[in-house]
Amino acid sequence: MVRELVLREVVSHSSEQTLAIGEWLGREMPSGTLLALDGDLGAGKTTLTRGIGQGLGGYPVSSPSFTLHDLHEGGRLPLSHCDAWMEGREVAFLRDGGSEWLAGEGICVVEWAERVREWLPCPRLWVRLLHRTPQTRRLEFRVLGPDGAPEGLTQVLVRLLERLPESGESP
Ligand code: ADP
Ligand code: MG
Repeated sequence: MVRELVLREVVSHSSEQTLAIGEWLGREMPSGTLLALDGDLGAGKTTLTRGIGQGLGGYPVSSPSFTLHDLHEGGRLPLSHCDAWMEGREVAFLRDGGSEWLAGEGICVVEWAERVREWLPCPRLWVRLLHRTPQTRRLEFRVLGPDGAPEGLTQVLVRLLERLPESGESP
């Protein structure tokens, strides 16, 4: 049974702040983290991932909407970046081997995760980004368990969220 373990909320007041939150995550997330991103177009999923790429080692993250998947290597951990937006292609991509990226070493970020929810293994870190004003976003953080992963990844992710910088602070 899948359980929602933690909810943290952070308000980002600028794209720079979302980048900084991502950078913190990129420095802190353990290998094996699957990060599912959710939220409307322009909510900041790619911006957050760009920050994660910075935190992991200066990866040049761009939107993978048309390639579906980008792999970055050479930093602290590899970053696998998927975009599940493309109508009719996302499930075929996962079925034809793309799902290997979801459980690999390093960090895997999936944009539009809601569209492929049934393909995503647990545990996973899940961030929903919501528009508040043109420059403000609410980021809702959850961990979905239970902990079936090696070395208690769920517990590690829960502790990670406890240390997540609070809203308004510079992470
Ligand atoms: P998505 O991948 O969710 O479609 P993007 O990250 O590509 O979204 O785009 C987010 C857009 O919103 C960018 O143009 C960014 O500059 C802008 N923006 C404004 N305020 C914020 C904020 N607080 N956090 C993230 N992006 C913001
Ligand atoms: Mg995007």
